Order: sequence, then C-alpha cells, then structure tokens
Amino acid sequence: MIKIDHLKKVFGNNEVLKDINQEVKKGEVVVIIGPSGSGKSTLLRCLNLLEKPTSGEIIFEGTALTGLNETKLNQLREKMGMVFQSFNLFPHMTVLENLKVAPVKVKGVPDAEAQKHAIRLLEQVGLSDKADAYPSSLSGGQQQRVAIARALAMDPDVMLFDEPTSALDPEMVGEVLKVMQDLVEMGMTMVVVTHEMGFAKEMADRVIFMDGGYIVEDGKPDQVFNYPQHQRTQDFLAKIL
Ligand code: ADP
Ligand code: MG
Repeated sequence: MIKIDHLKKVFGNNEVLKDINQEVKKGEVVVIIGPSGSGKSTLLRCLNLLEKPTSGEIIFEGTALTGLNETKLNQLREKMGMVFQSFNLFPHMTVLENLKVAPVKVKGVPDAEAQKHAIRLLEQVGLSDKADAYPSSLSGGQQQRVAIARALAMDPDVMLFDEPTSALDPEMVGEVLKVMQDLVEMGMTMVVVTHEMGFAKEMADRVIFMDGGYIVEDGKPDQVFNYPQHQRTQDFLAKIL
C-alpha cells in the first residue's frame, strides 16, 4: 500500500531522515517507536507529503507522490487519514459537522449520506450522544475519538497516528486505544507513532525503532521487545519499560 524508497529529509543542515526504505502492506499495523527528535513525526508527515522529501520517493497504492500536482496529490491524501497529538477539531462546528464537512465539501458526498455515515462512525467510537456537542464541551479523550471518527469519515485506506494519546490525561488513554484496537480488528492499515508499548506489543504486526533519522530495528513485536539486535534499541527499551 505504501512504499518508502530511499527517503531523505533535511532541514537546513539537519539531516532528519537518512535513507529510509520501508513497505507497509494492506491491513498491516506498523508501530513506530523511538526517542524524541528521532524523526518519527517527520517520517509520518512525509508519507502524505505534508512534509516534502528532500530526496527519495513515496509510492502510495502504486502512484509516486513527489511529482504530482496539488489536485492529484490532494485526491490521494484523502485516502490517508491522519490523527495528531493535538485533536485539531473545528471549534465552531458541532461534532457531527466536524465529521461531515470534508466528505461534503471535498468529496461532494450528498449531505444525507454524509450524515448517515457520520452517525455510524460516532457509534463506532462510542459518542452517539455527542453529535450536537461542540468540541470545547468534550474531554480530551472524547475529542480525540471525534478526531479519529472525522478521519474515518473520508473512508481512508490507511490511518496515520502521531502520538494520539500523548496529550491526554492518563485516565483517557484507554478509551482512545480501544477505538484504535477496534480499527485494527476491522483490518485497517495503520501506521502508529506511540509510546504506548502495550498497544505496540498487542496490536502491531511490526514494530520499527527509529533513532537519529535511521530505522535501527524492524521486526515483530516479540522480536523487537524481547530480542532487540542493537544496543541503541536495548538502551531505549531499558529506559521506557
Ligand atoms: P520525533 O517525532 O521523533 O520527536 P521529529 O520528526 O519531530 O521527531 O523531529 C526530528 C528532527 O527534525 C528534530 O531535530 C526536529 O527539531 C527537526 N524538525 C522537525 N520539523 C522541523 C521543521 N519544520 N523545521 C526544522 N526542523 C524540524
Ligand atoms: Mg513527534
């Protein structure tokens, strides 16, 4: 579904991603872990060209992204849902309006159809009763579940998560991870940057450890957590586990 081919990203003279090569298969759940500043967010943002690669290529569903014009690029971006640490909901719209706006305005989905889909998605994330609420009246965990539902409203083929639970109070982490777990079980293709090692161990098909702009370790959760091959991975895991 996604192929990352010799991806490099440089900010000024800071080489943030150094020759990244990866493939994400349909239905695969890839969890990216690593210390702060190792390039995890930049990698995720390069996947949908929110960040333009310095060199290398991102191939999404068979199409190379770097050469595309904005129109074509935006069409493909619709297929990649993204959820950030900060929920970024539209504050002046209700929950339901947040879910409907992109399908209606960007994709031209008829209002009634978008409405039905939005209501179904709110059920899926356990927030049917919040359809008419404004984001500011919701808890952080609820807002993040709305943000996930909003991304799903575009019918993405892959969901990208950048530390979706890092800004939450501890008691709200579980409800967001549960929604993500449901998505895994529904077969969604997912790339997830997280510090939630429980999620990584239970849900990931593959765990990638990044450090200093490199992919240092890449394997099944059991392999990476229990038999890390590299000292840097062992040091990182010793600190967080
Ligand atoms: P992580 O998500 O693993 O914490 P990031 O991808 O956010 O790491 O950042 C990796 C490095 O790239 C850091 O040194 C950061 O300062 C730098 N960086 C990220 N975004 C930018 C930017 N827009 N401009 C300049 N430097 C950036
Ligand atoms: Mg980050």
